[in-house]
Amino acid sequence: MFDNLSDRLTGVFDRLRGRGSLNEQDVREAMREVRIALLEADVALPVARDFINRVTEKAVGQQVLKSVTPGQQVVKIVNDELVAMLGGDAEGAGEAEPLHLDARPPVVIMMVGLQGSGKTTSTAKIARLLKDKQGKKPMMASLDVNRPAAQEQLKVLGEQAGVATLPIVPGQQPVDIARRALESAKLQAVDVLLLDTAGRLHVDEALMAEMKAVASVSAPTEVLLVVDSLTGQDAVNVAQSFSDEVPLTGVVLTRMDGDARGGAALSMRAVTGKPIKFAGTGEKLDAIEPFHPRRVADRILG
Ligand code: GDP
Repeated sequence: MFDNLSDRLTGVFDRLRGRGSLNEQDVREAMREVRIALLEADVALPVARDFINRVTEKAVGQQVLKSVTPGQQVVKIVNDELVAMLGGDAEGAGEAEPLHLDARPPVVIMMVGLQGSGKTTSTAKIARLLKDKQGKKPMMASLDVNRPAAQEQLKVLGEQAGVATLPIVPGQQPVDIARRALESAKLQAVDVLLLDTAGRLHVDEALMAEMKAVASVSAPTEVLLVVDSLTGQDAVNVAQSFSDEVPLTGVVLTRMDGDARGGAALSMRAVTGKPIKFAGTGEKLDAIEPFHPRRVADRILG
């Protein structure tokens, strides 16, 4: 992913870097090209506009243009802003934002998102990571009573991942399943309980009411929104709707192995105010990576 964006930006920046002197007009022209590249990569318009404004202000407002290597300085400013846009701090290492699980066990991770976004798969991937990489004892429970076989799907993934799932009680409703999952997790000394909530095809009131009810009985420490990076601008709208209604703590971007143009990744932080914590990179249970803002920014700028 990001290949097209990367190609376009590299072209703009190679020209900038090679120049011994720059004036304000040069910067503005380059930024016009950057803006087009961002929009073509499906970055939300207000996000692209804001990005360009910040870069332009920094580039023309400081001593950058008078420096010996103005082109390189401008590229650095773009890089730093890209890292910030992706959720890293410019001074810091731009590392992946970890899960914060320092609460009294069972710590609850609530997974939310639309149907088909990769929520169930991501739930199992994260549970597996916690078990294998962090030595935790996770348990998963499916609260998806809408989609036939959703609960069964999580059970099968749990078996593959070697992670326990809450036994299925047919007909039980999401809030009651969440309560039962908490009880069961306490009894079995589970460290982390992952709740795979129901999706819908579209964001609607019933879905949001259900998410709030589940959150209020389970008091999640992390609420992760799962979005499909291939859906571009739609992913941004979905993120906006969820973040207006549910107290998100982070985002999981799936299908980063596909040919997403990167816009969803670039807009996510600006829209939700929350970091992308993981990137899904395939269908298999080990196809998940911590999301490193600086690494991704470097990849975009080539
Ligand atoms: P849910 O309806 O949101 O729970 O979605 P699922 O977890 O059932 O995922 C829907 C489909 O997307 C499944 O076939 C998954 O294997 C696939 N999937 C999930 N995450 C990824 C990913 O990161 N990359 C790819 N290529 N496929 C994924």
